[in-house]
Amino acid sequence: MSLCRLLSHQAFDQLIARLNALGYRCIGPRVQDGHLVYSPLARFDELPRGVRQTQVPGAVRLHATDGPRAFAWANDDQCLKPFLFAPEEPLWAFEKDADGIWRSRDIRPAPEPMAIFGVRACDLAALALQDRHFRSDPWYQARRQQLFLVAVHCTHPASTCFCASTGDGPQAQRGYDLALYETDAGFLLETGSPRGEAAVAPLELPKAAPERIDEAQQEVAEAARHQQRQLPPADALRQLQDKASHPAWADIASHCLSCGNCTSVCPSCFCYDETDSGSLDGRNATRARQWGSCFAPEHGRMAGLDVRTTVAQRYRQWLTHKLASWQDQYDRPGCTGCGRCISWCPAGIDLVAAVAALASPHE
Ligand code: SF4
Ligand code: SF4
Repeated sequence: MSLCRLLSHQAFDQLIARLNALGYRCIGPRVQDGHLVYSPLARFDELPRGVRQTQVPGAVRLHATDGPRAFAWANDDQCLKPFLFAPEEPLWAFEKDADGIWRSRDIRPAPEPMAIFGVRACDLAALALQDRHFRSDPWYQARRQQLFLVAVHCTHPASTCFCASTGDGPQAQRGYDLALYETDAGFLLETGSPRGEAAVAPLELPKAAPERIDEAQQEVAEAARHQQRQLPPADALRQLQDKASHPAWADIASHCLSCGNCTSVCPSCFCYDETDSGSLDGRNATRARQWGSCFAPEHGRMAGLDVRTTVAQRYRQWLTHKLASWQDQYDRPGCTGCGRCISWCPAGIDLVAAVAALASPHE
């Protein structure tokens, strides 16, 4: 662990100002319409101070308290995914010039540097997965290179969280520039990269006392012990590939609305569709991509054939890829235990309960 320094609430504002001076636009979680949403951040007191959160299958609720902390909740409604892998964007565009020659237009993004505050361990782990998947994607990489990440170690897991069982949290382990332990009196700050160190060095923050560090780490360890759900280890999850005919798929599908909320909120889902369009005058053509979903009928269409016609087949595709066959691609399951797919499922379908049901013996 790097040197741990004290970051008071006043010094938090100095950190935002310092990152602004380095050219970063600062983003942090703020309350909007009863939800925690990443938004522009200018001052510490814009953060959700005193806010607590309840997440259960099918519901996310915020509660106001007079507590001093700004990050006393599990995870916000968004993850990092939309900042890097845009929900919808053009991939290429051509236009016909006056001589009738088709010319390509450069439409690659030119993103501004962005510093995101409050990133959680589960989302850092999912980011590492997306980094691997999109390693040759210029759109993703252009944004990724401009991202400065300020993590917060979790102390208030939701009932839907299970990052301790996937090995991804609640302590942020890697992939951040700065990481914060929150206490009632302020923060303890660690650096995780040379640019993180360069960003905070001029602030001359005082060193934290060992007992303060120990207390903060104990709180995070306690958060891990409080998690109520557990996903089985990776080897056991591989067995989902042998469960194609298990009756639990049909039972889950009888509740599933095939809405795709779970794949939209998942920080690691990476599928997309591509659509071509042209202008009516025949002078412009564009190819765009949009987030896809295992639950969309067109996701299972191959060469004119629908290979997944039922909801049970689509749910099975999602879960089996996410937890089992993903391991062949990226050496680990694709789930980092954030619990969002459980909280944001309108039918309250619980991934961990589904895995348990599928583990039961069947004919
Ligand atoms: S599992 Fe839930 S969120 Fe996912 S498609 Fe079905 S109803 Fe929608
Ligand atoms: S599958 Fe669900 S719990 Fe796992 S990372 Fe995706 S949204 Fe989070």
